[in-house]
Amino acid sequence: MSESRRLYEEAQRVLVGGVNSPVRAAIKPYPFFVREGKGPYLFTVDGNRLIDYVLGYGPLILGHAPEPVTRRVMDYVSRGWLYGVPTEIEVLLAKKIADHFPSIRRIRFVNSGGEAVSTAIRLARGYTKRKKILKFEGCYHGAVDYVLVKAGSAAAHFGVPLSAGVPEDVAKLTLVARYNDLDSVERVMRSEGNDVAAIIVEPIMANYGVIPPKDGFLRGLREIADRYGALLILDEVVTGYRIGLGGAQRYYGVSADITTLGKIIGGGFPVGAVGARDEIMDLLSPRGPVFNAGTFNGHPISMVAGLATIEVLETTNAYENAINTSRRLAEGFNDIFSRLDIDHVVNWAPTMLQVFFTKGEVVDHETASKSNTKLYLRLHEELLKRGVFIAPSQFEAMFTSSSHTNGIIEETLRQVEDSAKALR
Ligand code: PMP
Repeated sequence: MSESRRLYEEAQRVLVGGVNSPVRAAIKPYPFFVREGKGPYLFTVDGNRLIDYVLGYGPLILGHAPEPVTRRVMDYVSRGWLYGVPTEIEVLLAKKIADHFPSIRRIRFVNSGGEAVSTAIRLARGYTKRKKILKFEGCYHGAVDYVLVKAGSAAAHFGVPLSAGVPEDVAKLTLVARYNDLDSVERVMRSEGNDVAAIIVEPIMANYGVIPPKDGFLRGLREIADRYGALLILDEVVTGYRIGLGGAQRYYGVSADITTLGKIIGGGFPVGAVGARDEIMDLLSPRGPVFNAGTFNGHPISMVAGLATIEVLETTNAYENAINTSRRLAEGFNDIFSRLDIDHVVNWAPTMLQVFFTKGEVVDHETASKSNTKLYLRLHEELLKRGVFIAPSQFEAMFTSSSHTNGIIEETLRQVEDSAKALR
């Protein structure tokens, strides 16, 4: 029996489904357990080396255990790591983020993207004194009741719970529109706009595969939100520092009222952040009436790792590498599946991509849902056998890091070619 299998059997006795986050159980017949990560590689307890395109689901833009981040964390940890009072490192990271995001003047650090989103929604409601929010079908914003909602029947805009345990009364406060479709937003806002506190969107959808915004979509949301007096929350938990300094806001030239961040700003340690202009942020406790608190908020190790990561991104060609390799990988996928005559679409954004087995374009949850998800899972399995780890779900993204060299991409593409042949 492999060591991973043995550990998984043991894990299932004490952890729900043997895991602590559901996607991890999607690796069949059982998830591999990791011993170590270094650069672009994971090393499993079974002695396998895998080229990693999951990268902790996004945070590890420099790869595993990059030397400058490791060093700073190791140095810091000897001073203790939790004080219950402020540290300079929180101030430094907040200043850095405010430098890169003009829409962010003040920040609150929390512990996860989901917490950031739940705080952002509470803030938007506190600021506008309105109850409803508008989200997009297929966008994921964390394990938070208000956003664990999908579209109701075609006639209604009201959301219905995506999860047991989310009351319908809660889901009803969430309206759902179609990504990349401003008309669908306009329709909802025409009837409900005066009750909408915020429109929340992933500027690049990264939780339904990768789906970039069409030209003008984000600017259109900005305009509609303004017209109805709602706030625009850009959920940059994935895109913040992934597609560049300044995130999707800088890349697409659209400004958020409230931004949520996570993942990369903690360098792979737990983190989330909410940022906005003073007028909004000053509503938060201790300044204002909107509550937020957390034992681990602004955790020094997360702050140190985040700051070290961002400094590398600012001062080296890390982005250039990660962007070029993501582009080469996307081209390679396209070439291979075209040559083998397998229907496919590759969606790309800087340092992230996903392949869908379908015809036509993938622009929203509906077109993404038409893709052959079984074939994607088989690709994942074939690649895993050949030492390449892509997410075990069509509805995740592939990420590259600055540690993925051209040579590693070419090696990956050879394995993709062999895997694709095995799919036919
Ligand atoms: N927002 C987005 C866009 C995300 O992709 C995620 C998680 N992948 C979250 C929020 C939630 O973040 P966390 O898992 O850190 O709670």
